[in-house]
Amino acid sequence: MISVQGGDSVDYTISITNKCNLRCSYCYERHLNTEYGCITPEIMKKITDFVNGRGDAGTVYLFGGEPLLYKDEVMFFCENLRAKQIVITTNGTLLDEEFIKWCIDRKVIINMSHDGSECDERGADRELLDANLKLLLKYQPETLVQLVYTKSNLSKLYDNIMYLKGLGVKKVSAAMDAFLVPDDPDSFGDLLREQWEKIAGIQDLFVYELALKKKNIKENKKSSCELCRKKLFINWDGKFYPCIQFQNIPEYRCGDLTVGIEAEKARKAHPDYSMMSERCEGCEIADYCRNSCACRKMATTGTVRNISEAACLEEQVQILTALELLTKEKGG
Ligand code: SF4
Ligand code: SF4
Repeated sequence: MISVQGGDSVDYTISITNKCNLRCSYCYERHLNTEYGCITPEIMKKITDFVNGRGDAGTVYLFGGEPLLYKDEVMFFCENLRAKQIVITTNGTLLDEEFIKWCIDRKVIINMSHDGSECDERGADRELLDANLKLLLKYQPETLVQLVYTKSNLSKLYDNIMYLKGLGVKKVSAAMDAFLVPDDPDSFGDLLREQWEKIAGIQDLFVYELALKKKNIKENKKSSCELCRKKLFINWDGKFYPCIQFQNIPEYRCGDLTVGIEAEKARKAHPDYSMMSERCEGCEIADYCRNSCACRKMATTGTVRNISEAACLEEQVQILTALELLTKEKGG
């Protein structure tokens, strides 16, 4: 990795492959139902020239599927890309000590997914995940562990986070299954609230969602989502999309390695990209809500015009929990 200094930066997500060795019930790749493939040496070289030529890379995420199915390709990008930082997002099954050390030497960050004590919904061997996570924590103690919770294990969300803490995790991100549809929204909301209240009380643990909400509330920062301005998804076949959820949807394609980023064309074609959904009209906490995010709208409803009820409830609960934390920090 060669670093880039200063200026407005763009975050790039490079998909190494959409293949994976797990089968998570909530996997967006499986729901996208697209052709499976992986990056080629020719595309790798072109992506590297493209990103380095622009000279604006902030964080580059090396993503999948499971990117470590193609470790050599991941290592190529780590060695040759010019970026402020490089982050590999892995399910952890293929990690080994030699590779972790190699990344640490080059200041490449590894984020690992792990859902806690039960991994049945992923088809994963929990003992293997636990062992590899402990190994990763040994070299990278601040590893961000990404957990997904579903309808069936929401009642154990707090327990699963505590399970990860018990393995030595200091930083966690807990995201809801994007496809979740509650049977009874009221009791679902109550359960969400109960779990997030308990999570907020955990000592010595960084919880990404709450930290971000607190920051946005404190800074009075409205969340905004702008097509092809601050981030770009580069697919393993060299085609560009605004974000992960749009991969392989032709109408959202915004360029490729030959024509470059066609941002203006894409913005004109999709004026509704960052609109709030109808359900949000008059919502008092809309400024703190991230549900104008096109990727999230697409993930939860399959359109950029609406957000799911479950995602709305999750936002309400997290904003309320963050506000309570801020009040407590201020002493009442
Ligand atoms: S580890 Fe990630 S890419 Fe693999 S099946 Fe699970 S969600 Fe999908
Ligand atoms: S909390 Fe719900 S209603 Fe309010 S802005 Fe967010 S998604 Fe819309």
